[in-house]
Amino acid sequence: MNTLLSSPDRPDAPAEVAVRFEDVSKTYAARRGQSTVAALADIDLSVRAGSILGVIGRSGAGKSTLIRLVNGLELPTAGRVLVGGTDVANLPEEELRQLRRSIGMIFQHFNLLSSRTVHDNVALPLEIAGASRAEIRARVDPLIDLVGLADKRDRYPAELSGGQKQRVGIARALATRPSVLLSDEATSALDPETTRSILDLLTTINQELELTILLITHEMAVIRGIARDVAVIEGGRIVEQGDVFDLFTRPQHPTTRAFLAAESGRALPPFVAEHLSATPAPGSQQVLRIIFRGAHATDPVLSQITQQFGVAVNILGGAVDAIAGRPFGTLIVGVPEDPPLLEHISAFLAARDLDLEVLGHFALPAASPAQALGEVSHVA
Ligand code: ADP
Repeated sequence: MNTLLSSPDRPDAPAEVAVRFEDVSKTYAARRGQSTVAALADIDLSVRAGSILGVIGRSGAGKSTLIRLVNGLELPTAGRVLVGGTDVANLPEEELRQLRRSIGMIFQHFNLLSSRTVHDNVALPLEIAGASRAEIRARVDPLIDLVGLADKRDRYPAELSGGQKQRVGIARALATRPSVLLSDEATSALDPETTRSILDLLTTINQELELTILLITHEMAVIRGIARDVAVIEGGRIVEQGDVFDLFTRPQHPTTRAFLAAESGRALPPFVAEHLSATPAPGSQQVLRIIFRGAHATDPVLSQITQQFGVAVNILGGAVDAIAGRPFGTLIVGVPEDPPLLEHISAFLAARDLDLEVLGHFALPAASPAQALGEVSHVA
C-alpha cells in the first residue's frame, strides 16, 4: 500500500504534501550520567510533493533527528509525522516496510558495501525486497546509466571517487522507486565542484522522476544550489522558513543572518571589518549594504545615486549572482557622512524595492581618509 502521491488528479487542489511534521517534538531518554535531550520541539513543517526542501542548521540543531523521523528510524515523543498522509508511528510491520521502500536515503559517507560492485550495491534494496532476477536486471542498469556510471558497473567502491560513490548511493536509493528522497549531508564530504555535479544530478532526478527531496545540510551553498524552499533550524526549533530567494534576500532571524554572513559578497571585506565603528570619526565614511533584488536588481543604481545626489560612492565589496534563477546582488559601499543624504539614498532605494542596511562608519587610521578610500576603491 503506497499512498504517496496517489490522490486523484485535481488541478485546482492545493499542492499535495509529501511529508508533514505536525507539532512534532522529540526528546531522547536520559542516558547513563546524562539528562534527557530535547532534540526537537514544536516542529511544524510541510514538504510539498515534487519539491526540494532544504533544512539548514548547525551541528546539534536536530537535523538528523528530523530526517530519521520520516522513515521511522526515530519516533516522535509528541505530534505526528505523515508521509503521503500516513502516520509513520504505529504502522503494522509490513506497512512500515512498504513505506520505507517508498523513501530513499543518501548519506554523507555513502554507506556502500565495499565487498559489492557498483551493480550489486544498487541491486541490494531490490534483493532485500525480494525482487526477481529479471526485475533486478531491468531496474539496475538503467539506474546506473541515469547516474552516469555505466562504465563503472563492475567496479568496487574502493575504485571510485567520492562523487562516484555518491552517484552509486543515489542509484541505490532510487532502486525501489521511492517517492521521497532523504539526503543527510550528502555532499558534505565532497569538494565544491563535485558537490555542484551531485546537486545537478539531484535536480535532474527531482524533475524527471517527480521525486520529493528533503535534505539536511549545514552549508548555505547547498541550499542555494538546489532548494526552492528552506527551513532554518536552531536548538531543535525551526526559526525561519520559506522561499529560498526571500530568505536569502531578506533574512529575519539572527541564525539565518549568521549563515548568510559567510556568503560571498555579503561579508565585509576584512580591511573594512577591522576598521568599522559604530560612531563617525574624523574623515570617516558611512558604510552601507545595498541588497539588489526583484525588478530593479539590475538597475545602474550607483550611477543614478551619483548623478541625482552629486556624491561619489566608493565600492568596498560585493557580488552579483542569481538565486533560484532570479537576479540578486549585494554591494557594500561608502558614502560621505551626511544624515540628510543618507535619508535621500534610503528613500531612493526604497522606491525601487531595494534594501539598505547601515553597517557603520569606516576610516583607515594611518593614511589620510581620502587617500585611504582612494586606495580601497582600487582594491575593490
Ligand atoms: P544534527 O543532525 O543537527 O547535528 P542531531 O539530530 O544529531 O543534530 O542531534 C540533536 C540533539 O540530540 C543533540 O543534542 C544530540 O546530542 C542529541 N541526540 C541525537 N541522537 C541522540 C540519541 N540517540 N540519544 C541521545 N541524544 C541524542
